[in-house]
Amino acid sequence: MTFPVVGMVGGGQLARMTHEAGIPLGIRFKILSDTPQDSAARVVPDVTVGDYRDLETLRAFAAGCDVITFDHEHVPTEHLRALEADGIVVRPGPDALVHAQDKGVMRERLARIGAPCPRNRIVASPADVAAFAAEVGGFPVVLKTVRGGYDGKGVWIARSAEDAEEPFRAGVPVLAEEKVAFVRELAANVVRSPHGQAVAYPVVESVQVNGVCDTVIAPAPDLSDELSGQAQALALTIARELGVVGHLAVELFETTDGRILVNELAMRPHNSGHWTMDGAVTSQFANHLRAVLDLPLGDPRPRARWTVMANVLGGDYPDMYPAYLHCMARDPGLKIHMYGKDVKPGRKVGHVNTFGDDLADVRERAHHAAGYLRGTIDE
Ligand code: ADP
Repeated sequence: MTFPVVGMVGGGQLARMTHEAGIPLGIRFKILSDTPQDSAARVVPDVTVGDYRDLETLRAFAAGCDVITFDHEHVPTEHLRALEADGIVVRPGPDALVHAQDKGVMRERLARIGAPCPRNRIVASPADVAAFAAEVGGFPVVLKTVRGGYDGKGVWIARSAEDAEEPFRAGVPVLAEEKVAFVRELAANVVRSPHGQAVAYPVVESVQVNGVCDTVIAPAPDLSDELSGQAQALALTIARELGVVGHLAVELFETTDGRILVNELAMRPHNSGHWTMDGAVTSQFANHLRAVLDLPLGDPRPRARWTVMANVLGGDYPDMYPAYLHCMARDPGLKIHMYGKDVKPGRKVGHVNTFGDDLADVRERAHHAAGYLRGTIDE
């Protein structure tokens, strides 16, 4: 039997959906999960429960796998180097992944390859922040811990030097960035395989609410062909230059003066690509698996004029199943993806996809379903 074993570190919804994508291909899939209750651990038959920060745990997990990949970027870079030294195939490899782990390393490298970024600098104190602010036109500036942030955690807007003390308390290096005046956030998603094949999905708009992704519209409405082409070319260049293998999400700002700037990178399936499960010929999860296995990549083209993804966040009702009756009866074209997670207010517990020719209608259907499942819409 040559069917490979793919090991994914992490047991969240990204691992759950990657597992789902591997089933029709007969790929054997294992995960290293923090707890048996994690989203993927509830459905993947082969689960190791353990701590990804422990090298021996990683070694034991990797021993049974043909390739190791990730549903998050938190595995210490030095552990990945140790696994590679043991002969384990790690995709994306640590030299690429470090750019998604450390925002300081990412900014420095993107500057070297000429990728447009907000002006930025590593700062060591509130006085440094004030000096940086003076250079970029004054406060407010954005401060970010270089490692460990997600969904807006680890990001601060500093309005003065006195306001800039909090980020330094964690003892992690801090990156200061100019506060970009943007009209919206975009994502350029690409997939690259070890032999250098790459595909680009349509550039999408991602709408954030309180630092959390709320809606993704594919393709980004009214994006000029020029900017869309630039964004795709930029993402492909970053993937190639950094040696990414697998899915790469390049989060972008579209600025008020019509430019695109890179916000951050994720080297794994990404929330901005969930629309591809129903809206593209090949989903990001299927293409991530193909890439880490060095199989030919699948067609990234959209299957409908418009696809809208809306995240389902937890609300006041712990059980969302009763809401299916109304959602499914109202919209037979609705696609529901739930992650099997316990509902907590504000937590991402699933998403819905809708697609069709009329953007206003496709958006309304997605928002209705997400709101109804959450319990904020009751008709
Ligand atoms: P996370 O790692 O939590 O996703 P991000 O770096 O994406 O952190 O920042 C979270 C949000 O903060 C972004 O989606 C954006 O809305 C805002 N933000 C981040 N950097 C900047 C910036 N330089 N200028 C303006 N807004 C920013």
